[in-house]
Amino acid sequence: MSHDVILEAKGLTKEFEGFTAVNNVDLRVRRGSIHALIGPNGAGKTTLFSLLTRFLSATRGTIRFNGQDITRAHPADIARRGLVRSFQISAVYPKLSVLENVRLGLQRRVGSSFEFWRRESSLHGLNARAHELIDAVGLSSFVGHTAEELPYGRKRALEIAATLALDPEMMLLDEPTAGMGHEDIFKIAELIKQVAANRTVLVVEHNLNVVAHLSDTITVLQRGAILAEGTYADVSNNPAVREAYMGT
Ligand code: ADP
Repeated sequence: MSHDVILEAKGLTKEFEGFTAVNNVDLRVRRGSIHALIGPNGAGKTTLFSLLTRFLSATRGTIRFNGQDITRAHPADIARRGLVRSFQISAVYPKLSVLENVRLGLQRRVGSSFEFWRRESSLHGLNARAHELIDAVGLSSFVGHTAEELPYGRKRALEIAATLALDPEMMLLDEPTAGMGHEDIFKIAELIKQVAANRTVLVVEHNLNVVAHLSDTITVLQRGAILAEGTYADVSNNPAVREAYMGT
């Protein structure tokens, strides 16, 4: 595996009682890139995400992250290695404030290290870092609001901040702009670009404008298999993609 490939799946297959949801997928994600996964409903995008983060076990195939075989690793172990999936809104604690939600993520990374918690400066550092992240996702004016009080688009931003608090080397984002209005979509797209400045991002995204704007590489899935791969120009000019996905 070449050094600039951070995540590599080979022959990844998931069968559900005879139905093949992901079929022999080879995927290589370049370090530092924004890689989009697109395809019609039911193409297998979410299943592929779950396989990569080990929320589901593959029927066949291998996964390597940073050169190490993670095919059978525990999901928590994968997160510790730096591959983190941004959860659906439900993973943000609704009754906790924006600050508390982000700080919780930061605390989780620190764990229960006695040396850390013994120092008063650690707590100040933690708070300062939480405020930095909150600033970065544009939530400064919502710091004291509970998560459930936030408008929809802001909740997604909080979810990204809570994921960033874990300082992952690579983030998997599952439809970050789903259900958003135009203005929020634009904000989240900008946020993802910013997040990706020093990370790798793999994103499932339906909005093709966002995909075109963000992605270095796009993989198109259809019925569980890879239909095409390349830049936005490559895939949008691919006749098979136009026919199968864009309906032209
Ligand atoms: P996408 O995210 O691209 O919309 P999914 O990965 O959710 O696609 O689903 C791919 C296919 O696998 C769908 O046909 C879906 O019905 C099927 N599928 C997903 N999860 C399960 C499951 N747990 N059991 C059986 N079939 C499933």
